[in-house]
Amino acid sequence: MTDDAPAPTTAAWQQRWSAALMNNYGTPALALTRGSGAVVTDADGREYLDLLGGIAVNALGHAHPAIAAAVTEQMATLGHVSNLYIAPPVVELAEKLLARFGVDGSRAFFCNSGTEANEAAFKLARLTGRGEIVAAEKAFHGRTMGALAMTGQPAKRAPFEPMPPGVRFVPYGDADALDAAVGENTAAVILEPILGESGVVVPPADYLAHARRITAERGALLILDEVQTGIARTGSFFAHQSAGVVPDVMTLAKGLGGGFPIGAVIAGPAAADLFAPGMHGTTFGGNPMSVAAALAVLETIERDGLVDHVAAVGKTLAAGIEGLGHPLVDHVRGSGLLLGVALRAEVAKETEAAAREAGFLINAPAPDVLRLAPPLILTEEQAAGFIDALPAILDAASGSDDQNGQS
Ligand code: PMP
Repeated sequence: MTDDAPAPTTAAWQQRWSAALMNNYGTPALALTRGSGAVVTDADGREYLDLLGGIAVNALGHAHPAIAAAVTEQMATLGHVSNLYIAPPVVELAEKLLARFGVDGSRAFFCNSGTEANEAAFKLARLTGRGEIVAAEKAFHGRTMGALAMTGQPAKRAPFEPMPPGVRFVPYGDADALDAAVGENTAAVILEPILGESGVVVPPADYLAHARRITAERGALLILDEVQTGIARTGSFFAHQSAGVVPDVMTLAKGLGGGFPIGAVIAGPAAADLFAPGMHGTTFGGNPMSVAAALAVLETIERDGLVDHVAAVGKTLAAGIEGLGHPLVDHVRGSGLLLGVALRAEVAKETEAAAREAGFLINAPAPDVLRLAPPLILTEEQAAGFIDALPAILDAASGSDDQNGQS
């Protein structure tokens, strides 16, 4: 492009996107070209406060210098080496995550996404010699066939049937249903500590503890999918820690790489030794660049006290939104910086579009729920700015006929 050629606008990018990309994402409403902290800029030069953070991914916001420096240095020192060799930062990352997990005899496996982490957990479960997985209705665990088979959303599975067999679903949050479903052939129960994709649904306070007791009594693994809730997102380092529950297996991704693709399976002693050499692997899993990004994320969370920060800003946001007393807002749920705003009408899509018009990125995981999952570095001032703007956004949404918002 020459200096005087105009840069493509969002509309131009949308046209090219819809001609060149498969239609599985539809055509997004924005083309984003720059970001800094919790603020992003679109191709038309408009700025937005990013309250979605790539859906709970951007732990440190956009263009964080610690991640940029760590990845650049790693790339300039040693690039990809495959899992035929040890790249020392991989060992360091595993040790750091195991220390956070805090269970002797644990081990890590690295992959590239949340889906892959859950796929690996599914395979670990099958190695117990038992056949069945118990999963929750409405849960989301990913899009590969195994992760999809455990995803409790029939509409997502339907086009791709038949699924891998051996998954039984129970209503989320119902300890009695779990009690009835877990038996001698149950290899594992897989649960999200909070349902992320289905609208930030928080289970009853003792649900995870019940799941832990039932699985322990009956010799089944408890797998917690912390892909969305892990890495300080909910105001504790892992969501299971605030629930006082230790799973046998935990899956991570999203915030772990702060924008770089990386997933992890952390397994305690009941499952850590199930994979024998050659049984499972992936070319890019635990590649040094993704690992360098993850190490920078963990170091920054620690150095900047982001776990406590998330808890505090999350409280400001939740209390501030509820405190508006707006007639459309029923309640705010979730924890830390994973919040769902439950609306009294099915106008979440319209609200997402109105928020975008007003310069805020949020999304609508359900017709009557807004999701906020901003970068963990969101400031109190930025949170206050959104709270101030929300009444006008909600008014515009409830009076608007705009049905075109994308999520
Ligand atoms: N598990 C949960 C709880 C998720 O929220 C997601 C992504 N939304 C996944 C798994 C899948 O992760 P990925 O998109 O990285 O494959």
